Amino acid sequence: MSPSARTSWKLPAALAAALLASMLLGWLVGGQVTAWVAVVAIAEVVLLLTRIGHQTRTMMTAPASTSPLQHDRFMTRSRRLASNLRDLRNAASQLPDAVVLIDQQQHIRWFNHAAENLLGLRRPQDRGVLLLERMAGSELSEWLRDGAHEPLNDAVAPGRADSQLNVSLLPFGDHEQLLLARDISHLNRLEQVRRDFVANVSHELRTPLTVIHGYLELIDPEDVPELASVLGEMRSQSKRMGQIVEDLLTLSRLETQHDVADERVPMAALLATVRKEAEALSQGRHQITLESNTDADLLGSPKDLHSALSNLVSNAVRYTPAGGSITIRWQRTPEGAVYSVSDTGFGIPANHLARLTERFYRISSSRSRDSGGTGLGLSIVKHVLNLHQAQLQIESTPGAGSTFSCHFGPARLLAPGGSDEG
Ligand code: ADP
Repeated sequence: MSPSARTSWKLPAALAAALLASMLLGWLVGGQVTAWVAVVAIAEVVLLLTRIGHQTRTMMTAPASTSPLQHDRFMTRSRRLASNLRDLRNAASQLPDAVVLIDQQQHIRWFNHAAENLLGLRRPQDRGVLLLERMAGSELSEWLRDGAHEPLNDAVAPGRADSQLNVSLLPFGDHEQLLLARDISHLNRLEQVRRDFVANVSHELRTPLTVIHGYLELIDPEDVPELASVLGEMRSQSKRMGQIVEDLLTLSRLETQHDVADERVPMAALLATVRKEAEALSQGRHQITLESNTDADLLGSPKDLHSALSNLVSNAVRYTPAGGSITIRWQRTPEGAVYSVSDTGFGIPANHLARLTERFYRISSSRSRDSGGTGLGLSIVKHVLNLHQAQLQIESTPGAGSTFSCHFGPARLLAPGGSDEG
């Protein structure tokens, strides 16, 4: 077999295998990875289509001076290429994610079946049309107009109002771009089932736990001295369970909330409260300092902000050995204002930092439990901050201490008198 003939079947075969492997891997792994895997697969297909098209055209126009044997070979190769081309086109068309190839000016060049279904594109009339115009009136058009720098999550599918999409726009080739849209409706439904389940279980557990806890409180250990230590343990465990249930209910509520009440949160009073709470928890084992360079108040939910800010203080006390110090700061910055809690405690190894705000994620379960933790505190903090468009930043050095900072934007700041700070 000639080298060019070998290339003619090896290239499509290798790329078809890569496409299949990519799709399989994508479906197995799921989530964001699929989007990237699909990009690679599609990129391969489109690249291949271009090359094969070129090769096929070259062969079809093979010089007439070739011998009959050479001509037969050309014809066989071009038939094989045409068949590979068809297979790959079919494979690309059948991808479950919508794929649209657009040129530099964002004219639609090619799209698969899922794009018809999810984005409402029509064949052949939408070829060559501006994607932005075709998506007019949908969330996608605004996103495209803004440059589509970040993936768009949970967008209503322009082709199917009951579906939600995750959409990304990725550079492809020299000047083109690939728009990928993945139907995430079933994931959203599963997420909803999970949320409902957790909320319902927590709710159902609340009453029996309250009853058990109430009866345990009624028993006087002096009446049953032989059971005094057992009683103490039962009380502390039922209290812990009660706290876990309350935290789970708080999280369920925060997860379903999209915004918060815009109320004034007087920061001077809140800072004084969290400091008092820290002192009560520390029982004189730590040096606790409060520093502030602004009298700005916050705009948001007083209850949720109190819960988040005091959570960070309580963590600092619980994860700092006796003799350590804790500093609570409220400071104006050029970007807004920052509430931070620094401690000289155990610190956190860098590999744990990214996962700390996941539910029940702990570096040491025993240390967390012994200090009365539920493993849900930082998850609550993250949700509360998200609802206030604020970001949590964690800096830590194992053995030296940690700083947890909450960064609030100017839109969330109020001058103490009552007007906007921003
Ligand atoms: P927990 O109830 O276990 O404290 P959190 O969600 O509040 O749950 O915190 C998650 C984990 O992060 C903790 O278990 C602990 O390992 C770590 N952590 C949180 N705050 C600190 C801190 N200030 N210093 C060291 N580790 C911390």
